Amino acid sequence: MKKMKTVFQNCEGCEEKICLSEMRAHLNKCQPYISKYGPLVELGKIACREETYVCPFCPEELEEDELVHHCFIFHPSESRLVTCPICRLRPGGDSSYNSSFHKHLQTRHSIYYEKLHCK
Ligand SMILES: [Zn+2]
Ligand SMILES: [Zn+2]
Ligand SMILES: [Zn+2]
Repeated sequence: MKKMKTVFQNCEGCEEKICLSEMRAHLNKCQPYISKYGPLVELGKIACREETYVCPFCPEELEEDELVHHCFIFHPSESRLVTCPICRLRPGGDSSYNSSFHKHLQTRHSIYYEKLHCK
């Protein structure tokens, strides 16, 4: 049995030793890192998990494909008009629509929707 131990890694920006679990938070505000590699968002997409969105019907936080799945599984009969949390956070995204949220997910985020049904 391996013991959980704290792993440290040198920050690539300021060379400070940072606990791995706090690296993401550190990189978000580490100026040398940001000016060297740009904001963390880009890196996070590749190295870390994708951005998460809060479900408009409950406090669940999910990635885009999970959110689409989640809404169809857990809130299939919700008809409240809500703002799409994915489009709202996306630059240039259009979060306004006048059909149901599920219809919106189906038309706007259908890549994920279809993927779910091909599994
Ligand atoms: Zn740093
Ligand atoms: Zn939910
Ligand atoms: Zn959307």
